[in-house]
Amino acid sequence: MAVSFAIALLLAGTLLWLGWRLAVQDRQVAAQRMHEQRENAADLAVAALQRALSQVEERLATLAATQGPAAAERALALADGLGDDSVVLLVRDGAPVAYPAGRLAFSPVAPAPPEPVAVFMEADTLEFQQRDLRHALMVLQGLTDDPDVSTRAAALMRIARIQRKQERRDEALASYLELGRLGDVRVGDRPAALVARQARLGLFEQAGRTRDAEAEARGLRSALDAATYRLDRGAYEYFMQESERHVRSPRNTRAEALSAAAEQVADLARDTDAGSRRTVVHEHGLALLAVWRHDAAVVLGREWLEAQWPAALKASLAEQGLALRLTDPEGRVVSGDASTDTGGEAVRLAATTALPWNVHARTVRPELALGPAQTRQRLLLAALAIIGVLILGGGFVVARAVAREIEVSRLQSDFVSAVSHEFRTPLTSLCLLSEQLDSGSVHTEEARREYYGTLARESQRLRRLVEGLLNFGRMEAGAEKYEFEVHDPVELTRDVAAEFQREVEAMGYRVEFQADDRVPLIRGDRAALASALWNLLDNAVKYSSSGRTVWVDVGEDAGRAALHVRDEGQGIPKGEQAQVFAKFFRGEAARAQGIRGTGIGLATVRHIVERHGGEIRLESEPGAGTTFTILLPGAK
Ligand code: ADP
Repeated sequence: MAVSFAIALLLAGTLLWLGWRLAVQDRQVAAQRMHEQRENAADLAVAALQRALSQVEERLATLAATQGPAAAERALALADGLGDDSVVLLVRDGAPVAYPAGRLAFSPVAPAPPEPVAVFMEADTLEFQQRDLRHALMVLQGLTDDPDVSTRAAALMRIARIQRKQERRDEALASYLELGRLGDVRVGDRPAALVARQARLGLFEQAGRTRDAEAEARGLRSALDAATYRLDRGAYEYFMQESERHVRSPRNTRAEALSAAAEQVADLARDTDAGSRRTVVHEHGLALLAVWRHDAAVVLGREWLEAQWPAALKASLAEQGLALRLTDPEGRVVSGDASTDTGGEAVRLAATTALPWNVHARTVRPELALGPAQTRQRLLLAALAIIGVLILGGGFVVARAVAREIEVSRLQSDFVSAVSHEFRTPLTSLCLLSEQLDSGSVHTEEARREYYGTLARESQRLRRLVEGLLNFGRMEAGAEKYEFEVHDPVELTRDVAAEFQREVEAMGYRVEFQADDRVPLIRGDRAALASALWNLLDNAVKYSSSGRTVWVDVGEDAGRAALHVRDEGQGIPKGEQAQVFAKFFRGEAARAQGIRGTGIGLATVRHIVERHGGEIRLESEPGAGTTFTILLPGAK
């Protein structure tokens, strides 16, 4: 049993180990495949960026070689395909001009020509030296029709100023309104429209007209956001802060960043004489790629970058759970996936690819690649577990069958030796007695009679033994023949008890018989029932070493005849009570004390009783005695 169990365990263990190895290998293969996918994606991304950049550079070269108005057209055409967060710049007189216009929040402005001093000499003298504001106004009014718009603008500025001094606020507001209509006309270096709005904003604030002030601030702000007018950084910041006293919406950081980058690029384009350059510019937390050739430049934002991945690359990234990331040489994330944890990554360094960024292909959803392997692994483990259980279960069943077989063969060999022993005892005394009688060495008649009596008893015993064995054999083969007739159980039992009494009285045993009056008649085979009773009586005597009396009671129990055989012998241990009716079973004590027997008695009794439609019961108290009860149905 232990060996077969160990073999089953070994088999199951080996199987599990193999399965585990297989699963580990499967995972390794999946991980290797993921590694290859990342390397592949990184290479594809590098190739795509290199191709896109060299295309941009080619077009920049053409743009740089173009002069005159055609250059602006080319610049617009180039900007068209770049995306909203990129801009094309043409550096003119050291200042960048943006294409499309309005994409920069600010850019250097060419200094405005100085005001024609002579025109305003008279008015300024009147205003400041003679403090004759009225006359000064009159002179200035005459200049508001001047054909030169700059002169008109400067005149309106002065008129408004004098009106403010005179506390004529409404008129000053009207003058600023008129100034504002001049739009991009420069007042100093700043557009008239914004200067006028800012002045009106101040006047409204002074007058405590908050709503009007807010409306003016909003107008100022939307002109700034739309980059309607060209401003340098200082003017932009000044007007922005003025508007921010009333408007609290976030700034257009993208335009600010592009502007700051454009400033840098204009400097770089001026300073570097080599043909073409690339650099990453960091502004407002954005990383922008600047590429320039002579006086033509582009500043490229994240949108442009992310539009460069070919559709096939994007599809395979999604399918394989990968994401791309670009970092600048300092390791700051420029574009793409920003998560920190990763299932592994492939890196192409800027130094080796000649790109301005490091390219990372990262596994962000390892479950996509590992999922199928995990499913396979689970299936494998489940199958192995089932096989393991089957092997262990099979091993257990085999082991139990073998154990039973061993037990049966032990019982059979015990039976054979018990039967031989049972035969030898009467045969020995038969031989001995008949030899003595034959040799004439028994002299007295009385002794001879006693010898003959013993011979007869031993022969009877042998006969019963042989009959018992034959009955058991027939019973096993299912070939026993019963002749059912109606009998009185009291009479039958009394006869058997009396015969048994004669048999055992020489050994000092006594059978006490007692019967009720109203016992129902039964139908049965007299010989079979007698042998069943005899077996019970024989056991009662065999297993009563101290008590010398056996009680036989016949009564009635719920319409059935009840035949009790009781002794006050050693009793049957509780643990054996369920087994005593099994064939070949012999009690522990019976074997230890060498009490004769073959272990088929009670099996035969039960068989006979059941064939009569009856039932056999057992009550026993170890040390106190045993009662067997045969219950037989009454004859109809
Ligand atoms: P055996 O030939 O051993 O008597 P049986 O089938 O008649 O075989 O009995 C089976 C076992 O039941 C016996 O070995 C004995 O242990 C136990 N047994 C049967 N009858 C009695 C009894 N009256 N008192 C105690 N034990 C009994």
